[in-house]
Amino acid sequence: MNSVAKDPGTVVVCPNCGAKNRLRAAADGAPRCGNCHNGLPWIVDTSDADFSAVADGSTIPVLVDIWAPWCGPCRMVSPALEQLATELAGRLKLVKVNADDAPEVSRRFGVQAIPTLVLMHHGRVIDKQVGAAPARVLRSWLTEHLPDEDELTRVSDASSEGGRP
Ligand SMILES: [Zn+2]
Repeated sequence: MNSVAKDPGTVVVCPNCGAKNRLRAAADGAPRCGNCHNGLPWIVDTSDADFSAVADGSTIPVLVDIWAPWCGPCRMVSPALEQLATELAGRLKLVKVNADDAPEVSRRFGVQAIPTLVLMHHGRVIDKQVGAAPARVLRSWLTEHLPDEDELTRVSDASSEGGRP
């Protein structure tokens, strides 16, 4: 897997206007479409090597999906998560971790069964959910725990006043 420094980014088609945007895995803030400025869905594959930069370093909330290719329930929940990442574009970053490739991440979150979903912000765990669930259950779980947009704006204003170069 490429390191973050060499990350060429992935091309994401804007669900609003269809413009193609290149997104890096680790970046500040929430990605917006260069054409229409709507929030873009942000879905990133990661593993032990770059998890910290991609997830802990994110300034917007992160939903970590710990899955494995051999796990049937993971394959069921994956499209629901991608749908929610699109619905909550600009407010949520979806970070997918293949448990087989990421023993450190699995240990850190005490993963005993997959899928394990971890909602975190600024490196702190907000809530955890184990096992597959339908999109509507995951949607209410997420919207219940996500900071509202005003709060996110305040947080990012505060961090920019901190004198980031
Ligand atoms: Zn657009």
